[in-house]
Amino acid sequence: MQNYFEKRNRTFLSFKKIRKARPAILYNDGNVLTCKKCKNTFARSSWKKRNYICPHCGYYMPMPYKERIDMILDKGTFIERYKDLETDNPLDFKGYGAKLEKAEGSCKAKDGVITGSGEIFGRKVLIAIMDTSFMMASMGIVAGEKITRITEDAIEEKCPLILYAASGGARMQEGMFSLMQMAKTSGAMGRLREANGLCITFLTHPTTGGVSASFASLGDYIFAEPSALIGFAGPRVIEQTIGEKLPKGFQRAAFQEEHGFVDDITERDDQREVLRKLLNVHKEIG
Ligand SMILES: [Zn+2]
Repeated sequence: MQNYFEKRNRTFLSFKKIRKARPAILYNDGNVLTCKKCKNTFARSSWKKRNYICPHCGYYMPMPYKERIDMILDKGTFIERYKDLETDNPLDFKGYGAKLEKAEGSCKAKDGVITGSGEIFGRKVLIAIMDTSFMMASMGIVAGEKITRITEDAIEEKCPLILYAASGGARMQEGMFSLMQMAKTSGAMGRLREANGLCITFLTHPTTGGVSASFASLGDYIFAEPSALIGFAGPRVIEQTIGEKLPKGFQRAAFQEEHGFVDDITERDDQREVLRKLLNVHKEIG
């Protein structure tokens, strides 16, 4: 019996080692993806089918921009605009070129903002989607320019603008040029409002820094995905600055809805329907 237990324990220990290592190994496999919260692994096709919501714990994983396009727009209607805009490293920031190359490889885009036109239940819309797989969708010259251009297109074409915001903040490698994008994009949003345009914004996890403090909070309707972190400075920075513990759930979507920063929280599965209904009550714009 003693031998049995010793053998069993040894076997179980080696099993635990394999189990622990499994997600890390499989995470890099293109065919499977591990939930960041519960660490369960599922085939990429299951994630796609469930709009990147964990089948086990309901966690909202970051959603690649291509899948968001498929989730929101009528099939095959997306036409990308300003695809080839890329930064020229204005400050000659050391190592920035290599970082950009890596980000382009994982995001399959030249910056973390993807812009274009498409249709929702047959209604033409312009859309900008931020993808955190490109340097946390930080806002630099290219992001600012693309957001500004697509907003100006919305004015000119009298077309609703849909924004999917996400960002870790300003692109530090572009210094002041990056911060200027806050004023530039806010100006464009102001012109859209003057022209009686329509902007519907979805704040996704995380929407922080210069993006949250500029165009992302200037839409006519502001929705948020469940549990998204939305704020300017992160909770840890605020705690260290004011020397106090923050309340539970601070800066999460529900907190921001309660405090009036967000109009409503919408599940991914509902967003296309929410857009259809909201666009219907705004038949005429511009
Ligand atoms: Zn999970």
